[in-house]
Amino acid sequence: MLNFTLPEAMGGSRVKGIEFQITSIIVLVILASNYVRNRKLPRMSSKIFSFILACGIVNIVADVGAVYVLRHIESIPLVKVRGWHQIFAASLITVVFSVYLYVGSIMDMRSHFWSKANFSKNIPYILALGLIGILPIYYYTDSYSVYSYGPMIQCVYVIVILYIVLIFMMLFGRGNKFFKKMSWLKLDECGKFKKGEDTAVSKETKWSISCGIMVWIMIAIYQSMNPSNLLSSVGVSMMILFIYLSLENPKEFLDVESNTLNRRAFHIMVPEMVRSSKNFYVISYVIDDLNYIPNLLGYEETRKVLAYIGENIKHITNARIYHSRTNTLTIFIKNKKNVEELIKKSSEWKLEYIGANNISLSLKYHINVIEYPTYAGTIDEIYDVMDYMATHFDATDENKIVYADEELIKRKNHYLSVQALVEKEIKNKDFEVYYQPIYSTKAKKFTSAEALVRLRDKETLGYISPEIFIPIAEQKGLIKELGNIVFEKVCTFASQKKLWEYGVEYIEVNLSSIEAIDKRIVTQLRECMEKHQVKPKFINLEITETASTEGGDMMHINMNQLRELGCHFSMDDFGTGYSNLAQMIKVRFEMIKLDKSLLWPCFEEDGTEAKVLLENCINMIHQLGMKIVAEGVETQEQAECLIEKGVNYLQGYYFSKPVCEEDYINILLQNEFNRKMMVIKQY
Ligand code: C2E
Ligand code: CA
Ligand code: CA
Repeated sequence: MLNFTLPEAMGGSRVKGIEFQITSIIVLVILASNYVRNRKLPRMSSKIFSFILACGIVNIVADVGAVYVLRHIESIPLVKVRGWHQIFAASLITVVFSVYLYVGSIMDMRSHFWSKANFSKNIPYILALGLIGILPIYYYTDSYSVYSYGPMIQCVYVIVILYIVLIFMMLFGRGNKFFKKMSWLKLDECGKFKKGEDTAVSKETKWSISCGIMVWIMIAIYQSMNPSNLLSSVGVSMMILFIYLSLENPKEFLDVESNTLNRRAFHIMVPEMVRSSKNFYVISYVIDDLNYIPNLLGYEETRKVLAYIGENIKHITNARIYHSRTNTLTIFIKNKKNVEELIKKSSEWKLEYIGANNISLSLKYHINVIEYPTYAGTIDEIYDVMDYMATHFDATDENKIVYADEELIKRKNHYLSVQALVEKEIKNKDFEVYYQPIYSTKAKKFTSAEALVRLRDKETLGYISPEIFIPIAEQKGLIKELGNIVFEKVCTFASQKKLWEYGVEYIEVNLSSIEAIDKRIVTQLRECMEKHQVKPKFINLEITETASTEGGDMMHINMNQLRELGCHFSMDDFGTGYSNLAQMIKVRFEMIKLDKSLLWPCFEEDGTEAKVLLENCINMIHQLGMKIVAEGVETQEQAECLIEKGVNYLQGYYFSKPVCEEDYINILLQNEFNRKMMVIKQY
């Protein structure tokens, strides 16, 4: 029942409670003008929200109107009185029904109204609209209060309660059979898509919608107990305010850094685009050297560079721009012709950014174009292709535009299959470890070996090089687990075969840069060695030159603790990184592994200078008291040259390729046999 109460002693000239309506209208009008002015996302929920706002305003105006006509019921025709009440009732149920549609749209990214599964839930609303037209309503007026009651008002209450229940069920009744039908949604509000997952909206969002509704319910209860206070309009405006602040505030989607829309907006728009368009293009402007700018010019300049690119894009298109990745601005375009025009214009760009201190930067960028649905048919595929294109740079100076075409999709699929295989093998601990014997020039036999991980797919992919899958494991955060598996296999093999009895002094194990800085690595390696009773001095850990310069204090701490246990260290791939010589003194290594790129040029036609470099490197390392391993020794000539220059250890195909455990044992047996024969020959 709706109650309109007139204050005593006021002779009915003012209606108590009208201040609430006036305040509510002011709040909603301010909110609406703010909402209209700011850049919104072109999504279904925003359209519904605009509609809720409009209905909310109509509802409160109708509320005021209804109070007014009741006050003057004697002088106003009854049809008019009824009319105002009908507008009030219809707009109130429309607000509630729209909130129901709104919740549906943010949960499913679909139009709930038209969805077949949910259409039956629109019927009560449509029916109620009809009933408001015909149901009777009665009015009560005396000198204290005016109110209306009767079937029409009861109908409004029933509908409001029904849709509030439906909203709650939608938010929290996921497991419920009734709502199971709607579980095609896979988006959570943070914008992350997890394949096959049934997550819908973040807890935070559910919480804020529920809060809005709870306020509504509380106000309704309060009003029914205190009929002299008219709070229905406060309820409507509070609910709208809740949604606005938590979900629809356009500022939530602004990226202050680049003055474009932010990543969250982008994640919301991808499914929205898939839902609403048959065909569209995702065009990404990738600024290739953006990562260097913070170091050179500071973060403030990086922000300005992004804004500068954003401005340039704005000059050639009206499309909304999203800051989709750190160094990427993305737009959606529906029309193929517009895409061609846009690409033509932007490939003519001469981007020159004038930064602080008048520094002029000529920015390198490229453009990635993905056509939906031809080359990416689902939301997940759009993300996969974008990820792949972002991490596999294919543009050249001459060709700045990269299209996702059949060839690229093939490579992406291969990449994803490898990724899936790595994940599977890590779960099953199915990797194999091969051993490449290392020849000691002093002992004239194999005294050590490098453990190298191997991945083979028995079905389709065949052998996959570690150069390909190690970076994937690093990107996917799986490298630590992979490292653990390799280390466990090495320790198991060493202790089972008692490798030291074959004259093996140590095994070299590669430590990725991520492992090297991990706080738990020392404990993990120590426990593994203890479990298999492998002495730490039997393990030599290889850390690449680049990792050793970038590893920082954590790596030094780990290295020192492992060294205290008895482990030794080699600097891997010397000559390929920045060759930070000062670092060589700061971080102690027992051994340096010369990369093949230092060795091979010495044996090319004009190898004199390369030889000078190699010779001086060898002398310098020796004078620093470290031993040298030369990698990639492929010919007898190379081996002899290196022996002559005093290199301590040789590793390469000339001696042996990396081999499986069994073959490695055979090599060691042969090794020992040869040594014994040599001893016999000497007598
Ligand atoms: P790396 O540590 O520099 O390993 C030496 C690489 O050179 C191995 O490639 C080896 O097979 C190859 N090689 C050895 N001798 C010769 C030669 O005479 N000629 C030529 N052309 N190549 C030779 P592989 O096994 O493909 O491994 C590639 C890289 O993958 C390794 O380079 C290492 O960085 C990484 N890797 C391999 N196993 C592991 C591992 O268990 N953990 C980690 N973190 N990285 C690993
Ligand atoms: Ca290595
Ligand atoms: Ca190496």
